Amino acid sequence: MISFEKIKKTFGEDEKPVFEDFNESIEEGEFVLLTGRSGSGKSTLINMLLKETEPDGGRIVVNGRDLSSIKPAEIPFYRRGIGVIFQDFRLFDEYTVFGNLEVTLNLTGGKGKDTEKRITDILKLLGIDRLYKRYPGELSGGEKQKVCMARAIINDPKILLADEPTGNLDPGSSKDIFKLLELIHRQGTTVVMATHDFDTAGAFIKEGRRVSLD
Ligand code: ADP
Ligand code: MG
Repeated sequence: MISFEKIKKTFGEDEKPVFEDFNESIEEGEFVLLTGRSGSGKSTLINMLLKETEPDGGRIVVNGRDLSSIKPAEIPFYRRGIGVIFQDFRLFDEYTVFGNLEVTLNLTGGKGKDTEKRITDILKLLGIDRLYKRYPGELSGGEKQKVCMARAIINDPKILLADEPTGNLDPGSSKDIFKLLELIHRQGTTVVMATHDFDTAGAFIKEGRRVSLD
């Protein structure tokens, strides 16, 4: 489903390469725990999957498509097929929880008669339906990250990318997020989660396969 073939990536002329010859393939339905010390390239791999940055050499194939063949104008459409969550949430503070999800559906053309039901169903699935009228500023970090997960999966992506999703959370909230990632995974989504803390993540995520960049 995702393959990295002979990936090379260096950011600046005087910098050490982040990747010299990176090869990995991820099958449909896998849960990959991408681990490695800070600076090992976890975010860079995720950003390459999102076409936010390009490799200097090699090939990335997602769902049979070589990412280098995607034209700039097609990138937004390509990204819609991939859910993503980040350490720093990136919610719209001026919208409620419901509003954040509605905006996402509007932006991705997924809006329709069933919008309200879709949003409510996702919030229920993640156990946060009682928060739907709140603003991000009225939520804890763990609650914000659950809203981000709702936003990431509302379009039923086949792939969910998570870049240090628990990096700003306390241990209790982190455990909730890992459990929800497992739930989403069990529903058939391929999950790739970057974390610098394999010991904690690995303790909760039993279904994961570790890919270490160290
Ligand atoms: P990780 O997520 O594993 O902590 P990153 O992928 O963020 O690592 O970074 C890998 C290396 O690439 C680091 O040395 C980082 O400084 C460098 N790097 C990442 N993004 C950029 C960028 N946009 N410009 C310059 N250097 C970068
Ligand atoms: Mg990172």
